[in-house]
Amino acid sequence: MSKKYIGAHVSAAGGVENAPVNAKEIGATAFALFTKNQRQWKSKPLTEESISKFKKNCDDLGFSPRHILPHDSYLINLGHPEKAGIEKSREAFLDEMQRCEQLGLELLNFHPGSHLKKISEDECLQRVAESVNIVLEKTNGVTAVIENTAGQGSNVGYRFEHLARIIELVDDKSRVGVCIDTCHGWAGGYDFLSDEGYEKSWTAFEELVGLEYLKGVHLNDAKKDVGSKVDRHASLGDGYMTNKTFERMMKDDRFNDIPIILETPDPLRWPDEIKWLREKAGL
Ligand SMILES: [Zn+2]
Ligand SMILES: [Zn+2]
Repeated sequence: MSKKYIGAHVSAAGGVENAPVNAKEIGATAFALFTKNQRQWKSKPLTEESISKFKKNCDDLGFSPRHILPHDSYLINLGHPEKAGIEKSREAFLDEMQRCEQLGLELLNFHPGSHLKKISEDECLQRVAESVNIVLEKTNGVTAVIENTAGQGSNVGYRFEHLARIIELVDDKSRVGVCIDTCHGWAGGYDFLSDEGYEKSWTAFEELVGLEYLKGVHLNDAKKDVGSKVDRHASLGDGYMTNKTFERMMKDDRFNDIPIILETPDPLRWPDEIKWLREKAGL
């Protein structure tokens, strides 16, 4: 039986408690959200009221914490080459982790970081792992979920080897995981479309990272061709990966029981995209 949990990155405008409601409205059984404004360093703490409403809404609407994949702020760079930059990022990431703890959530998805052409890729990956170690030590119960990147600019994390390297250097392996964004993977050079490419890519993932670390998927088609290193999401079927890739993933047991999150550009299409994916998954 196919156990797919499918949703989208929904709005939390007006309070985090609105995210599960918005997810339910589009027919989702999983969702992603920002627990604070993703373009600002500082946000007000979550209120007790907001926290209890969030938990109640998730309970009432049937969302389990393992299928909720919060995303951290875009400003955070846990591999920052400079002291001031990395300290600010670590502080902000700790705040994000603590928000997840307060909300009873188990996962926090983050982009590994950028070397800004000032240090090597490996030095940057080492810094990311050190950041994760620092923050995991100060928190409980929340897993840091590394998202693969498209490799735009000086971003690290576009090879499965990068994800594996961070995991290797994290002390508490029980609280580190990965999320694979299909558009980023494609842009990073993984051919998920052809028959051989699909098997080769996911086998490489299993061998280099390991399926036990896969905590979520971002399901996006791509506006640019494979290996472009350009991060431009397309609605399902509108991009280079085509519906064939997503249909195959819905029939693949490797993606069972983890949040599968749409970050496709047209929210009005999410209900149809979710419906189509559920059909292909046999739900
Ligand atoms: Zn992301
Ligand atoms: Zn993503």
